[in-house]
Amino acid sequence: MVDLLPEVLRRWQAVEAEARQHFRCAGFGEIRTPLLETTDLFCRGIGEATDVVGKEMYSFQDRGDRSCTLRPEGTASVVRAALQHGLLSQGAQKLWYAGPMFRYERPQAGRQRQFHQIGVEWLGAESARSDVEVIALAWDLLARLGVGGLELEVNSLGSPEDRQTYRAALVQWLEQRSEALDPDSQARLSTNPLRILDTKNKDTQALLEEAPTLADALSSESRERFEAVQQGLCTLGIPFRLNPRLVRGLDYYSHTAFEITSDRLGAQATVCGGGRYDGLIAQLGGAATPAIGWALGMERLLLVLEASAQADPDGTAAGLVAGSVPDAYIVNRGAQASAAALALARELRGKGLVVELDDSGSAFGKQFKRADRREARWALVLGDEEAERREVRLKPLQQRGEESVIALTAMAAIVETLQTP
Ligand code: ATP
Ligand code: MG
Repeated sequence: MVDLLPEVLRRWQAVEAEARQHFRCAGFGEIRTPLLETTDLFCRGIGEATDVVGKEMYSFQDRGDRSCTLRPEGTASVVRAALQHGLLSQGAQKLWYAGPMFRYERPQAGRQRQFHQIGVEWLGAESARSDVEVIALAWDLLARLGVGGLELEVNSLGSPEDRQTYRAALVQWLEQRSEALDPDSQARLSTNPLRILDTKNKDTQALLEEAPTLADALSSESRERFEAVQQGLCTLGIPFRLNPRLVRGLDYYSHTAFEITSDRLGAQATVCGGGRYDGLIAQLGGAATPAIGWALGMERLLLVLEASAQADPDGTAAGLVAGSVPDAYIVNRGAQASAAALALARELRGKGLVVELDDSGSAFGKQFKRADRREARWALVLGDEEAERREVRLKPLQQRGEESVIALTAMAAIVETLQTP
């Protein structure tokens, strides 16, 4: 679990601000659910045989002897909240969330035990077009942030019946070759065979090249649906690659599944993952309601944002990554000047300007150096002489311009000068 320091959080907030605006334009409203849920919610919602529930949850007994779990993902909680508050009786719900998730995984680059997701859930979305709209929502957010080098992979997991048929075919095929499977995959053969498709083991991957694929098991209805989704993506000009082995880690997915990966992330390449989960709402006690959503990993997003900023220093990503600079840096020295400087800083900050007040009392030269290092646009100079005359000297630092002296009482004139571009 990691601390987030100001340098990172500046970028973080820039990303969240863009996301917030993006979701608002698409008619998605924010939802915040507790970090803690009953363990049972995830067992029922995500599935006992998944890695997340089987190995990765932070669960404990609370003082009332209830089993609680720090949420490992957002979807189950959002569905629970929607059901609990009767939101679905008001029609389809377009929701987004952002916040920490917890999984007991092996920490490495792009993988933490507390990580953060931004996600959307569209409860009540049924048409193939809604799949396209939701995928576009993710794709366009990443484009809006200026993140490059991304690839969208899509697959169809079909209906539950399609998957049943496929599971049987896959198990039969793999059982004849079970000796060639890695131990993890052997274990999954009886618990969660579809997850074998997702293995990171190279030998098993090679073996799977020959295995029957889900695409062959899709009913004609599921196939038509999937074709409509692909057609929709083509119409919007969103490039994608079909990946018949894309299965996703959680049990509740059906039909469209997708991931957005980056070639800049090494092994932890997936920035965003999502798909349709038509069965989940009924499984959690609601009326059967189709739904689709996605989640993107904030930490991985920031890594690709950084890479995009480096690749294109004039691009959008670079603008988001760049730090903000103070409008003014107050250089001050002497008892009277120091008091006047504090009052000036306070007034200017009250007008919304970013003002740094030098606190060192050191020689003017040193203070100017610091102002330069902070890339402040203006130095406001207050020495005993200026303080005595109730004036401040304004000296442009980053831009060309005239130095000027303004009375401390002429606040409007000071603000106007600082705001000249
Ligand atoms: P992975 O295959 O990388 O473990 P996942 O399929 O478990 O991903 P999801 O449950 O789909 O991931 O979560 C969506 C996104 O959240 C991922 O694409 C990734 O960007 C991010 N994510 C998931 N687990 C972690 C983690 N432990 N640390 C950082 N980010 C994570
Ligand atoms: Mg995972």
